[in-house]
Amino acid sequence: MTVLIKGAGVAGLAAAFELSRRGITVEVMDAAETVGTGASTYAGGMLAPYCEREAAEEAVLTLGLPSPDWWAEAVPGEVSRKGTLVIAAGRDSVELDRFASRTRGYEWVGGNTIGELEPDLAGRFDRALFFPEEAHLDPRKAMAGLYETLVEKGVRFHLGSTEPPADTAFSAVVECTGAAAIGSTPGLRGVRGEMLFLETAEISLSRPVRLLHPRHPLYIVPREDHRFMVGATMIETDDDGPITARSVMEFLNAAYAVHPAFGEARLVETGVGVRPAFADNLPRVLEQEDGFSIAGMHRHGFLLAPAMAQQLADRICAGGHEQLYAQGALQ
Ligand SMILES: Cc1cc2nc3c(=O)[nH]c(=O)nc-3n(C[C@H](O)[C@H](O)[C@H](O)COP(=O)(O)OP(=O)(O)OC[C@H]3O[C@@H](n4cnc5c(N)ncnc54)[C@H](O)[C@@H]3O)c2cc1C
Repeated sequence: MTVLIKGAGVAGLAAAFELSRRGITVEVMDAAETVGTGASTYAGGMLAPYCEREAAEEAVLTLGLPSPDWWAEAVPGEVSRKGTLVIAAGRDSVELDRFASRTRGYEWVGGNTIGELEPDLAGRFDRALFFPEEAHLDPRKAMAGLYETLVEKGVRFHLGSTEPPADTAFSAVVECTGAAAIGSTPGLRGVRGEMLFLETAEISLSRPVRLLHPRHPLYIVPREDHRFMVGATMIETDDDGPITARSVMEFLNAAYAVHPAFGEARLVETGVGVRPAFADNLPRVLEQEDGFSIAGMHRHGFLLAPAMAQQLADRICAGGHEQLYAQGALQ
């Protein structure tokens, strides 16, 4: 009667939450000693279905729209619903038109409104796209919150191990091992994402700001304690080695273009995560011999984990996996 979730990144934790709230007994294991140490720890935490639609399939928008509500219920108080601001330097202004032509859900705003939304950007940009319905969260706090809630609900965690606990007979296993599934999941590839954290009290931002650029687009996501997550590269490789000097230079140049005070900020952390992705960059719930997997979250782990968790729970509750019935896991 118990489902084992393998992998406690955003996909695994969201799946555990969704199954457990539907009354299914869940246990979670992870190779690492703590939850959320994979690609999920380096994410921007943007819940930005309209902005992502610029380069993604319509399904990312439709599946992603309810995501902020799911997160607000799962980790109350952690979702910030202040929208996204998309800007470009004057010489790259055409990038804003191109971006706008590929998505929807935005308002064109001029310099005055930019200054009202983000006072520290006043006078720096003449026009921008504002996506009022978008949201963001701090991935590390959100995953810590999910973990705490799951522990309170009685979910057992087995951390620091790749072997399923021997004391329980699991009716199904749900594999949520992120990039570790590359090689064993046909069609899954890695997309390297580099990022860094800047710290400065000289600037305040209330919402994610995306700077469009023909070669080096970047986003800045505000966190607590005067920290700003700056990301992210998209490199077709599953190499998770340290960030390159070129990427650091490009991020810092672009952050400086958003506001010169970033030039005096402290560079407090760099990180690299490998996003697991299929050819169409859409995630999937896949049926496997002993259960299911949630795979291919690509650059939408936080945006689309709720939808994948719900699809998984629907299939398990509907008896999508015959073995669950055969073993008496589900009624
Ligand atoms: C720089 C960057 C920025 C991003 N920004 C955003 C964003 O703003 N919004 C958004 O929605 N998404 C964003 N993403 C994408 C998001 O981070 C990923 O889609 C997501 O983290 C993938 O989650 P996952 O749970 O599938 O994998 P992971 O987070 O990698 O988790 C996999 C887990 O499985 C465990 N594991 C591996 N092998 C085993 C094993 N054999 N046994 C047990 N456990 C195992 C690992 O220890 C790990 O904890 C970003 C990604 C990057 C890299």
